[in-house]
Amino acid sequence: MKGRQHTDICRVDVSTATSKPCNIPSSNGTMSDIEGSCHCGAITLRIVGGFGDDAKSFICHCEPCQVLSGSLFACTAFVASKNLQVVRGTPKPYKQSRETNSSGMQVTRHFCGDCGTPLWGESEVAPSGSFVRTALFGNTLPPKAEVFWKRAHEWEKPMVPPGALFEAGHGPLTA
Ligand SMILES: [Zn+2]
Ligand SMILES: [Zn+2]
Repeated sequence: MKGRQHTDICRVDVSTATSKPCNIPSSNGTMSDIEGSCHCGAITLRIVGGFGDDAKSFICHCEPCQVLSGSLFACTAFVASKNLQVVRGTPKPYKQSRETNSSGMQVTRHFCGDCGTPLWGESEVAPSGSFVRTALFGNTLPPKAEVFWKRAHEWEKPMVPPGALFEAGHGPLTA
């Protein structure tokens, strides 16, 4: 059964800056900020305070995430948009049409216009947050949930316990 759905995210601040995925000292001295770059290095993102212990990391099996990742699913973490900064480069936005999203939510995805790396997405479903692709930060964050499991293929196996497997949207993650 095929259908359409999805939610993803974004948002930004542009300044200038540094590079590669690594921990950098935090301005407030508590949690470390983390930075990550696209494959070609043109874009660098920073998450102020890092992901934190309660990071909402998840795998999304929706059809747009499959196509836009060129793979089976997308690995994403939901972070407060105020904590996501673009410190180098200018990401290219892709405003996904509502018709490609069964929820009818507007979704905008951002990627590197040079190398095509998916960066983060934003959705009306969670206007205060951004869905950041965890690969930019080394995929060190294990997924805590899987969403749109109904779009997964019969030969795929869950990576999370049954209670963390959701047939559809991101509701439990963005609440
Ligand atoms: Zn790039
Ligand atoms: Zn998705």
